[in-house]
Amino acid sequence: MFECQYCEAKFKSERTIMIHVCEPKRRYMNKDEKYSRLAFHAYSRFYELTQAVGGRTFDDFAKSKFYLGFTKFGMHIININAVNPEDFIDFVIRNSVKLDRWCSDSVYETYIQELNRKESADRAVERSILLMQKWGADYDRPFSRFFKEVSKPLAIHYITSGRLSPWVIFNCDSGAELIDSFSDQELTIINEYLEPSFWTRKFETRREDVQFVKMILKKAGI
Ligand SMILES: [Zn+2]
Repeated sequence: MFECQYCEAKFKSERTIMIHVCEPKRRYMNKDEKYSRLAFHAYSRFYELTQAVGGRTFDDFAKSKFYLGFTKFGMHIININAVNPEDFIDFVIRNSVKLDRWCSDSVYETYIQELNRKESADRAVERSILLMQKWGADYDRPFSRFFKEVSKPLAIHYITSGRLSPWVIFNCDSGAELIDSFSDQELTIINEYLEPSFWTRKFETRREDVQFVKMILKKAGI
């Protein structure tokens, strides 16, 4: 007899046990999938941050009653292509968001607003330029043409998913022109993320950073 090491089911032939798949075995087979690694990281961080318990193993995770909740969140992070996944994981835990709400749109929106507000200027520029370069590669265009040529729906998507920082949009002419081209209705949507009055105040107190961002963007021809 052959016994499944995960669920202890017994089989007469080696061939049947090889093709046998049970839920515990499936969890181990998918251990190294990206969603599973993110989920395990979230699970570990949860115990570290809320209960000061370190050293959780994958075995603990696979047997946890919260396994499915965490893996659903791991898939969600990949589906929405979350900015800085590890920061997002810490954000939901530190803000005591209930696990069943981790995948809700409003939680990610709050995270993005906070991230944009707190992020340093150089990090924001770096991240936004990387996005423009990816856009350039995808559309076979020079990335410096980003604000002039990106489609409006895509620009709105990038803004509302936090992939384009206000640091960049507000500190170059082509970014300002893109904003001017939006309809009132579109502006209502994106202003929740761009928070113009917050950024106007912030730029006034951070003049050196503003000069730095403008210089970088100018050099890049954006
Ligand atoms: Zn089994």
